[in-house]
Parts: sequence; structure tokens; C-alpha cells
Amino acid sequence: QAKRDGRAHYQYFSPEMNVEMLERMHLEQRLRRAVKQSEFYLEYQPVIDMRNGAIISVEALIRWNDPEFGVISPQAFIPIAEEAGLIEPLGEWILHQALSDLAELHSQGLMLKMAINVSGRQCINSKDVSFYDILKDALSKHAICAKDLHIEITESMLIEDKPRCLQTLESIKQLGVDIYLDDFGTGYSALSYLTQCPISVIKIDKSFIDNVLNNPSDAKLIKAIVMMAQSLEMPLVAEGIETVEQWQFLHSLGCDYAQGYLMSRPLTKPQLVEFLQQAKPFQYLKLAPELSAV
Ligand code: C2E
Ligand code: MG
Ligand code: MG
Ligand code: MG
Repeated sequence: QAKRDGRAHYQYFSPEMNVEMLERMHLEQRLRRAVKQSEFYLEYQPVIDMRNGAIISVEALIRWNDPEFGVISPQAFIPIAEEAGLIEPLGEWILHQALSDLAELHSQGLMLKMAINVSGRQCINSKDVSFYDILKDALSKHAICAKDLHIEITESMLIEDKPRCLQTLESIKQLGVDIYLDDFGTGYSALSYLTQCPISVIKIDKSFIDNVLNNPSDAKLIKAIVMMAQSLEMPLVAEGIETVEQWQFLHSLGCDYAQGYLMSRPLTKPQLVEFLQQAKPFQYLKLAPELSAV
């Protein structure tokens, strides 16, 4: 043990790591340019009320179509944007784009709410202008009522800088913007956060939903999460519902809302307008009564 501790540590890079680093730097450069030139667009995924089939809101999801790399997953570039200090301008672009699209939907009589994902670095930033002010200004600029917007945060954000984060979240909540806890169950969740933070709704992570029918322990976990949320009087969203069986299971437990490919993939704005006008959600109204008999 002592021998190992005393050994000199050489930092060297394998050829693979060099390639990785170069790719990473290249990606960062690309991202920087993309932020300047707004090479992004948003897609919107409907969230359905499991009790009556209504579309209650849509979640804005960013897409980056790079001329060289093609469409890059936000899971790949959001962490890079955070580390490279690009999440603040990018986050502001997302906010304005989403709210301007929401205003347009409202003007067409399509009255729904919208969710925006907010990363930790964006919320607790180092700039003179706080995220709270940015949010408040954006709402008034696009004439959107605060109750029609909510933000999604993750547990990791609550851990990083808890006092500052809490303060920001409290003021956002005061403004009337609800806060949803995303990817629930995947972080190091000290459950006390649920009552200490101004969280209104919990989103169960897709990874639990994926195996709910073939993994009894995931099914038990979901049951426990539903019961916990009910006793805290917090509505639940199930993320990543892909099959009717998953829908039925979550519905039978009394889960409130559902989001997933079964109902709709993330849609471009024109696709969303079409989806809303076709009133497709009624097919889930039909599902509901059968289910309560199960
Ligand atoms: P998230 O916020 O948990 O978003 C849900 C993700 O699950 C989305 O992936 C969505 O397309 C995907 N999804 C929904 N239903 C299904 C399903 O039935 N099957 C499958 N296979 N996937 C489903 P997406 O758009 O790739 O986003 C991944 C993550 O990137 C998001 O997870 C979020 O953490 C982050 N992200 C996306 N857009 C933004 C953004 O505008 N800002 C920030 N800060 N993060 C974002
Ligand atoms: Mg989300
Ligand atoms: Mg999620
Ligand atoms: Mg996620």
C-alpha cells in the first residue's frame, strides 16, 4: 500500500485520449460558433394528463444540427456548454425561443404550459444579472404569464451550491414559475430536498419506466415513489413511456402525468401545432376507463 502511494504519477495520454481531447476541443470550438450563429432549434414533447388524456404542457428540448457532426444529442453537448461557460448565452437563447413559440401558440388559441430545462450553472451564475432577472424580463418581454412556464431542475443542481440555489429557486417560485424535479431517482437524493426546496412536481426518470414490466424491483420502486409523492401531495410525471403496458401500470398506480414516445416524440413547432389540432390525445381518454377496471 505504502509502495503504491509513494510511486510517482505520470500523466500521459494514449493515442485514443489524444483523439478524444482533440475531438472535445473541436466540439467546443464548434459549439462556441454555434452559440454565436444560433445553429439550434427547439423541439417540444407533449405531457399528458393520465386521468383525462388532455395535453397539459410541452417540454422544450434543444437540438443542435451541426453542419459537420449532424444532429448532436443535448446529453453530449450540454455538459460541454456548461464547462466552457456557454450555458448562459445558450440558456438565454432557449428561454427566449421557447417563450416566443409559446406566445405564438397562445395567439393561435392553443393554450398550454411549457417546461424548460435549466442547468445548475445557468441558475447559479456568476454574472451581474441573475437568472431570476433574466427569467422575469423574458416573461414580460413575451407577455407570458408566469404560471404558464415551469422549469425543470435536477437533483445534482441542489447538491452543488445549496443555499444559493435555494434562494434563487425560492424567488423564481415567488414569481409564479413552478419548479419540477427532473430525472428523479438517479441522483444522490437525500429525500429531505423534496420538502426543503420549493418543488411542485416530480418527474420519475425513464430508467425506472424502461424495466417496470420485467424487473419486479423497479416496479416496487415506482410503487414506493408514487406513494411517497401522494403523501407529500406532489403530482408525478412518468417519463419515457413507450408501451401501452407501461401506461397501464403507471395509470393503475395513480400516476398523474405521462410523457413518452407512446403519446408523442418531441416535435418541431409546426408538427406540434398539427398534433394539437388533430386532438389525438382523445385516444388516451379511451384507454383510461379500461384501465381502472384492471
Ligand atoms: P430530460 O430533461 O430528462 O428530457 C427527457 C429526454 O427523454 C429527452 O431526450 C426526450 O427526447 C427523451 N424521451 C422522452 N420520452 C422518451 C421515450 O419514450 N423514449 C426514449 N427513448 N426517450 C424519450 P433529449 O431531448 O435527448 O434530452 C436529453 C437531456 O438533455 C434532457 O433530459 C435534459 O437533461 C437535457 N436537455 C435537453 N434540452 C435541454 C435544454 O434546453 N436545456 C438544458 N439545460 N438541458 C437540456
Ligand atoms: Mg427535462
Ligand atoms: Mg428527465
Ligand atoms: Mg434526463
